[in-house]
Amino acid sequence: MKKNSLLTIIAAAGVGERFRFKAPKQYAQINGHSIIERAVKPFIDSSYVSEIIIAISKDDNLIKNQDFYNSKKIKYVIGGATRQESINNALHAAEKEYEYVITHDAARPNIMEDDITNLYKDITNSKTSCSFLYTPVYDSIKEIDSKEKTKDKSKFYLVQTPQISNFNDLKIALKKCIDENINCPDESFAIEYSDLSLSKVMGARSNIKITEPGDIELLSKFLTRSGTGFDLHKYEAGDGIILGGYKIKCDYKIVAHSDGDVLLHSIADSILGAAALGDIGKFFPDNDENNRDLNSSKIIKYCLDKINELNLEIYNIDTTVICQEPKINPYREEILQKLSSLLMIPVSRIGLKATTSEKIGIIGENKAIAVQSLVNLREKL
Ligand code: ZN
Repeated sequence: MKKNSLLTIIAAAGVGERFRFKAPKQYAQINGHSIIERAVKPFIDSSYVSEIIIAISKDDNLIKNQDFYNSKKIKYVIGGATRQESINNALHAAEKEYEYVITHDAARPNIMEDDITNLYKDITNSKTSCSFLYTPVYDSIKEIDSKEKTKDKSKFYLVQTPQISNFNDLKIALKKCIDENINCPDESFAIEYSDLSLSKVMGARSNIKITEPGDIELLSKFLTRSGTGFDLHKYEAGDGIILGGYKIKCDYKIVAHSDGDVLLHSIADSILGAAALGDIGKFFPDNDENNRDLNSSKIIKYCLDKINELNLEIYNIDTTVICQEPKINPYREEILQKLSSLLMIPVSRIGLKATTSEKIGIIGENKAIAVQSLVNLREKL
């Protein structure tokens, strides 16, 4: 596959009627980015795509607010009354005759760069006029007619974008649809209507088309990042341990360079992990005198600042404290309250569990305590 060999056309001229939103659905924001910004990004990032043409409606005044607006790769054309006219206008605005063109919908924000390469491989291997992404039908299907009969779902599949077409074949096929006033739901239909050949590549069900407001919530579930953390400290004789900023009185204390808050250390590592920033040893080395007896809430604050810079926030946290003693459950509520105020999320999004190691190993012999944690970060709304 040659670099800079592909043209991409994004259909963004249609206004979603099912989407009762003050702006066209592709401009709905989710976690700091619009749907269209997410839909266009893989094409901007792809080294195989040299030119992107976005077909917009003539009264579109939101396109200029999008983060890609000034990208050198992108050109804008005014779309027509139908999809086939919009795609056709874009094809004619291309700076040269390409071999292949990829078409995609502004309302499909979840595609991956792999989709682009897989489609390209398929059309070049199969030598068809168009290759498209599809998914099998998993739900039962009934036909809307007088009898509402159930259909054999194995005889159907669902068609998605992106699709890749031979540039000249698509031009001819679209012209035929326009001339005959035939409505094209997608480019594979135009190719099919002209009796040209088609092939298909299995797509992902996560490649959803944002159609109604509930789809935004569905999309947000795909956008979390998770990270895990683990920390273990030894015990020595003492008057108590600090867990999540809360001191539990007992006959031990935690051996550590800092205050030894093993719960906060584990959570901090999971936050840094989810944000791909490294681990706490990188930011708070235990051979640094400045970190002696460090209050670990400072580590958490530092992590929150770091993810804030990346426009991320904590969605939820789950933790498991592993120790033989002390018993954690009697202090569970207090620890949760402390965690909630430190992490700035409600208690309902914090899991705090405790287990022992059945008196086996260093933890079972009451010589150490460990905490395992998992965090989900999401982009800020
Ligand atoms: Zn630690």
